[in-house]
Amino acid sequence: MRNVLTASLLIAALTAVPSTAAPRVKVMLLDGEQGGPYHAWQETTPYLKKMLDQAGIFDVQVVTAPPAGGDFSAFKPKWQDYNVVVANYDVPDERWSDELKASFEQYMREGGGLVSVHAADNAFPKWKAYNQMIGIGGWRGRDETSGPLWYYKDGKLVSDSTPGRAGSHGARQAFKIVNRVTDHPITKGLPAEWMHVPDELYATLRGPGENMTVLATAFSVESNRGTGRDEPILMVLNVGKGRVFHTTLGHDLAALNCVGFIATYQRGVEWAATGQVTQRVPADFPTAEQSSTRADFVPPAGWVSPGGAPRPRVIKVPAKK
Ligand code: ZN
Repeated sequence: MRNVLTASLLIAALTAVPSTAAPRVKVMLLDGEQGGPYHAWQETTPYLKKMLDQAGIFDVQVVTAPPAGGDFSAFKPKWQDYNVVVANYDVPDERWSDELKASFEQYMREGGGLVSVHAADNAFPKWKAYNQMIGIGGWRGRDETSGPLWYYKDGKLVSDSTPGRAGSHGARQAFKIVNRVTDHPITKGLPAEWMHVPDELYATLRGPGENMTVLATAFSVESNRGTGRDEPILMVLNVGKGRVFHTTLGHDLAALNCVGFIATYQRGVEWAATGQVTQRVPADFPTAEQSSTRADFVPPAGWVSPGGAPRPRVIKVPAKK
C-alpha cells in the first residue's frame, strides 16, 4: 500500500505543470471604427493580431465595437478578463457613454493595460482620463486647451505651451527612430537608433503628459511639413496601477511591416500587461542605416494604401494665342 501511494505521488509530481510556466497574456484587440478610410482597421487588425500570435505568449481576442450610429446598449466589454487592451480604434467623445468610459477608467486604475496604436491617440479628445492614459494626442479639435506640446530638445523632454492645433504629419517617408531610454524593459537590448519604413511621423501632439516616459523619438524634417523637432514616437505611462504603451507608428499595412514596429509592439503589449518583457530582440531588427521587413507581413499583391492615392491634379494649360 505504501509503495502504491509513493508511486502515485511520484507520478503526480512528475506530471504536474511546473510552477514556473508563465500564464499566457490575455489580450483584447479593440477595433470597429477609425477617423476615415485611410485607417483601414479591417485590414490592419489581422496584421496586429498575427504579430501577437507569432510571439507565442499571448491569447488574443478581437473585440469589434459597433459602428458609428450603431447600438451600443449591449457593448459592455469585460475589461477585467484581459491583461491588456490594444486599441486600433479612433472615435469621437460622444461614441461611448459615461458609464462605458467609467468602466474602462476603473479597469485601468485597478491595474489594467492599454496599448495605443497610431490613430488611437486621435480618439476621445475631451475625455480627460483617456488623455491622461495616452499622455499626448492630436486632431479631433485638440489645441492648447488639451495641454502643451511635448517634444525632445537638447536631449531632454520639454513641454511647450505655445498655442495652436494639435496633430500633424507630412508625406509618408522612411525615418530614423532614436531610443532615448535604453534601460526600459521595452527598449533594453535594442539598437540605439533604427530605421523605420515609410510611415506618418506624428508631430505637434499635445496632452497632459503626466507620468509619461518618452522611450523613443524621431526627427520631423521641415522639408516634409515637419516641425524641425525630435517628436515622441514610443511612450510609456502609469495610470493608477495600470500601464500604458503608446506607439504613434503604424499608419497602414506597409507601415506595419517593419521589424522595428513589430518587435516594439510585441514587447510593449507584454509590458503593458505584465510590467515585464520576456521576449528576445529579433536578429532581423533594423539598424541605424537599414530598415527591415518580413515576408509574413508584405501587403497582398495589388494592395494600395487606402485613401493614400494622390489626388488627381487639374493642370490648367493656358490657351495659346
Ligand atoms: Zn495615419
